[in-house]
Amino acid sequence: MSKPRFITFEGIDGSGKSTQSRRFADHLRAQGEDIILTREPGGSPGAEEIRALLLTGDPDRWSPETEILLFTAARRDHLEKTIQPALAQGKTVISDRFADSTRVYQGATRGDLRGIVDSLHSLMIGREPDLTFIIDMDPQTALQRGLARKSGEDRFEEFGLGFQETLRHGFLALAHASPDRCVLIDGNRTPDQIASEIAAYA
Ligand code: ADP
Ligand code: MG
Repeated sequence: MSKPRFITFEGIDGSGKSTQSRRFADHLRAQGEDIILTREPGGSPGAEEIRALLLTGDPDRWSPETEILLFTAARRDHLEKTIQPALAQGKTVISDRFADSTRVYQGATRGDLRGIVDSLHSLMIGREPDLTFIIDMDPQTALQRGLARKSGEDRFEEFGLGFQETLRHGFLALAHASPDRCVLIDGNRTPDQIASEIAAYA
């Protein structure tokens, strides 16, 4: 059996992360792999509670710094309770978002807090995925998809097109900075076309 892998999906809202992470998990399961499909923020009971603190209620409840602490606390619990145990059991872990989302959302959009994000990551998380799919796409189309979906928890969509443009460039910069683990995927295609490109990484 091949070494269990930790794989993440990243990209702007509406880019197809949830769709493609589900499809890749199904594809690997069909090949007989033992897969855990998880997500952030959340992915463990404690981290799901922190998710509710972050994504429901008054968006201005937390300062940007406190928000980074909460995301990091959630990630630490997710790692301890879900990701590491699954990898130790030989399972492949696929996470819909991980640390790159905090680097981009909290590091780049709420003031220049990337240094805090990186320091906390190396102190409390210290683990990168083996493989990250960054789904890149036209923010206007992604925004329309996201708005059509109308999920109450995705409050980031409220910030609109300029915000999505900033996020897109943040993800592109990350893909550029970490070519060893990041694969850039063109999300401006049909779900089938995207899924078949990703399936080549099975
Ligand atoms: P994300 O998790 O990145 O926010 P989703 O996978 O939830 O994105 O997709 C957002 C919406 O767009 C969903 O309604 C989904 O069905 C739809 N969608 C996903 N991928 C595509 C695609 N390649 N083309 C058209 N619509 C898509
Ligand atoms: Mg999603």
